[in-house]
Amino acid sequence: MRMLMNNLDPDVAEAPDDLVVYGGTGRAVRSWDAFDAIVATLTTLADDETMLVQSGKPVGVFRTHEWAPRVLIANSNLVPDWANWSEFRRLEALGLTMYGQMTAGSWIYIGTQGILQGTYECFAEIARRRFGGTLAGTITLTAGLGGMGGAQPLAITMNGGVALCIDVDPARIQRRVEHRYLDEVAESLDDAIARCTAARERGEARSVGVVGNAATVLPDLVERGFAADIVTDQTSAHDPLSYVPADMTPAAMAELRTTDPEELVRRARQSMAAHCAAMVAYADRGAEVFDYGNSLRTEAQLGGFQRAFDYPGFLPAYIRPLFCEGKGPFRWVALSGEPADIAATDRAAMEEFPNDEGLHRWLALASERVAFQGLPARICWLGYGERHRLGLRFNEMVRTGEVSAPIVIGRDHLDSGSVASPYRETEAMADGSDAIADWPLLNALVNTASGATWVSIHHGGGVGIGRSIHAGMVVVADGTELAARRLERVLTSDPGTGVIRHVDAGYERARQVAVERGVRIPMDETGGGR
Ligand code: NAD
Repeated sequence: MRMLMNNLDPDVAEAPDDLVVYGGTGRAVRSWDAFDAIVATLTTLADDETMLVQSGKPVGVFRTHEWAPRVLIANSNLVPDWANWSEFRRLEALGLTMYGQMTAGSWIYIGTQGILQGTYECFAEIARRRFGGTLAGTITLTAGLGGMGGAQPLAITMNGGVALCIDVDPARIQRRVEHRYLDEVAESLDDAIARCTAARERGEARSVGVVGNAATVLPDLVERGFAADIVTDQTSAHDPLSYVPADMTPAAMAELRTTDPEELVRRARQSMAAHCAAMVAYADRGAEVFDYGNSLRTEAQLGGFQRAFDYPGFLPAYIRPLFCEGKGPFRWVALSGEPADIAATDRAAMEEFPNDEGLHRWLALASERVAFQGLPARICWLGYGERHRLGLRFNEMVRTGEVSAPIVIGRDHLDSGSVASPYRETEAMADGSDAIADWPLLNALVNTASGATWVSIHHGGGVGIGRSIHAGMVVVADGTELAARRLERVLTSDPGTGVIRHVDAGYERARQVAVERGVRIPMDETGGGR
């Protein structure tokens, strides 16, 4: 209940009055009536009961058992032949479904920090591969400073670089300044170029926001010959009814969305084609260009731009080797609301993994630079064999009173075993299994069987309706013996599904991890091959 309310905290959610948490229209619950019913049900739910939530509305309560999840959630799912935006919108307008995004409808959003660490790791990997280990002296050009995209400027400056960030909505830019994710706002594009160029020359880490539409600003920058070293994008391109077309204000777009949605989709796709073409022009000039998981390439192609897939997605480019180790976005929240509890868990994480330099560097930077939104929280990427150790350590801290209240442990759906998404997490799998969606379903089932506290199965988050199936899990460390047993199992089987998924696809690193860390692969045990 606290996590649901935290998702809708005005300091956390992008549009709490509309129940929108982040990612275009990603909602926590379907309506305020549904919110009231969920809260009332949770308040009286027994320790051996489970509430079922269908796309943000509570629909049933059953007697289960103590180990079972207290809540099971299914969001935005449609039968495959019906899984497209227009059918989804029709059903949504009838009040029958809602868009759950990833952590919005599964009640484990922790504000922009949630994506910050993944974004930081991604830019760190680019720095290692192309720029000698640091982004100092480089400019990254990007757009979209929303709930997720807002992590980009801080992730870039944490890696020493300069960030030029475009957003069409001045309020979003201001919000990122208030949360200390963005350093400054330029008055015009000329002013932004001057500030970024000067910072690059000084080798200074700096982030500059400027109001503008990416569909016109990027082509303009190409025309001017502005030299960006890295180019990406996190506008809400996954949903053509959320992307603001060129020459429109966000308010005008909102109006067209109700009066003529088809015309809005047409104009948005045309603009995305121009936006994406500018990114390809940067790739042609040798810049490091990648898609940041928002479907811009797909929508641009639908808008008539043929070369949209000329640059890669970030997942196969930088993150897959981590997924082979079951490594992904482990996050936790202090239900006490006390920042001191997170400080204690930060210290515990460093003690638990004394030799992990990357983890220490990240936790030091995060504790210094991340402003909490809502309940204090932390994220760090941990792999198979690591997550359950930290989970058990936190449970012990709750038991002994080292932290003052239970700790909630969860993750993004963007993880190694919990998602099928051919334009993002499972793009270009080694065996071509990009669209096989059995894996996230098995992930949700095994987390349910292992004793997670709530489990969810979603469709469409991140990249849009028809393009992904994914699962979420959350498990609570309340200091009890039962919690320890549940944590040990859930935090082993959850990343374990990532290892087996990548073994099955033929990744050698995943096979090594399975052998070294004892993940059982039945076909290998019986010599059956693939
Ligand atoms: P959001 O809706 O909170 O923010 C989108 C932002 O884009 C808004 O600030 C909006 O003003 C801006 N925008 C829209 N059209 C624009 C245009 N033409 N030019 C300039 N700015 C424009 O969304 P979010 O939560 O920040 O997510 C952004 C995208 O990233 C989504 O498509 C989401 O699915 C995707 N995403 C990617 C990852 C990842 O791991 N890479 C993770 C989560 C979400």
